[in-house]
Amino acid sequence: NALLDRIDEKDKSIEGYITVAKEDALNSAKLADESIKNGGISPLTGVCASVKDNICTDKILTTCASKMLYNFVPPYDATVVKKLKAQGSVIIGKTNMDEFAMGSSTETSYFKKTKNPHDLAKVPGGSSGGSAAVVAADEAIFALGSDTGGSIRQPSAFCGVVGLKPTYGLVSRFGLVAFASSLDQIGPITKNVTDSAVVLNAIAGYDKMDSTSADEKTDDYTKSLGESVKGLKIGIPKEYIGEGIQKEVKDAIMNAAKVYESMGAEIFEFSLPMTKYALPAYYIMSSAEASSNLARFDGVKYGYRAENYTDLTDMYLKTRSEGFGSEVKRRIMLGTYALSAGYYDAYYKKAQQARTLIRNSFAEAFDKFDVILTPTTPTTAFEIGKNITDPITMYLNDICTVSVNIAGLPAISIPCGYDKTNMPIGLQLIAKPFAENTLFKTAYAFE
Ligand code: GLN
Repeated sequence: NALLDRIDEKDKSIEGYITVAKEDALNSAKLADESIKNGGISPLTGVCASVKDNICTDKILTTCASKMLYNFVPPYDATVVKKLKAQGSVIIGKTNMDEFAMGSSTETSYFKKTKNPHDLAKVPGGSSGGSAAVVAADEAIFALGSDTGGSIRQPSAFCGVVGLKPTYGLVSRFGLVAFASSLDQIGPITKNVTDSAVVLNAIAGYDKMDSTSADEKTDDYTKSLGESVKGLKIGIPKEYIGEGIQKEVKDAIMNAAKVYESMGAEIFEFSLPMTKYALPAYYIMSSAEASSNLARFDGVKYGYRAENYTDLTDMYLKTRSEGFGSEVKRRIMLGTYALSAGYYDAYYKKAQQARTLIRNSFAEAFDKFDVILTPTTPTTAFEIGKNITDPITMYLNDICTVSVNIAGLPAISIPCGYDKTNMPIGLQLIAKPFAENTLFKTAYAFE
């Protein structure tokens, strides 16, 4: 009830929620109360979570912030939601996002523009901007986001909270509306590193419903919190602190490196020359996969259907023209173009080759270092409206985050200072696959 009151008061200005699931939340809160009375308590019993609106919730509207799914009520829970509920967590609502998770500012949502709680004139980042904003504004205890090219980490950096993108395959994607299936991962957005580890404990693990789920043993992700970073080898790739990085961001990152050094870690600068291919490769691959994944939205199975049409083809055409926003259409066109017979070798195949090179260069780096340290974003949060008409500038915002998805690695963004206008700066730590515990140890030591 306290949190629902808080949402009532705060969300008028933040606009982080698409749906507040009041009845469901109060019902599950009652169940949580009962299980506490009966001694059945887990770390998440009664703890309120908000869930990004591209993650299916049984009987609760799931729109992907698109007109295309404005009325879609899933008949099942995503695996992550099922797991949270099994732990007694209370789903309090569904958060705003860029349409189908395409964007870096939450401005492509069909419904509303979420504001950054640190400055209401600025974007919260994206695409999980609603999730990050409601955690930062104390309108949820924690949230789930999805990250295809930075969508958990970038909004977490912009809003001054902690965002984890787990290793590809560690968290089930069953029930996550697919954007780019080979890159998408669900992860926690929390107020601190401990909460991030606790939530990961609840949602990680093999799921037979997701064919890309990793059949690996999970760990207790809280066990390394508090361990020393003495002797830890931390690499800083020079491509991530060069041109285009706001000075205050770079200063905060270098300062964080000094803090780690003072705790006994060893700091090295090195080069990841493949970085320059990451953005173009990402936008080709993610758009190609999106064009295929979004083919299912045709007005037949669910969601929006155009009202006036002459025949089936006309119905498809009108439904998709009216149901998708312009950024989604741009990605579908880019994707189908890159996949078309005459251009496949020049674009999609090249992007896949770049992917292999990027993945290999990270593997080599992790022979030498335990952790890679970079900024999460080149700048702090920008003004609402500033980049939305310029897709290339918007895409450039993902320069520090996309490589991690391309290589399937885990990465965490934690707050590491403020710029002179008091906007938060995010520090990104990257580790090798399934080394989430190394990330938590390193992140916790700085916090
Ligand atoms: N901003 C990136 C994009 O627009 C990343 C999105 C995401 O991670 N879902 O594709």
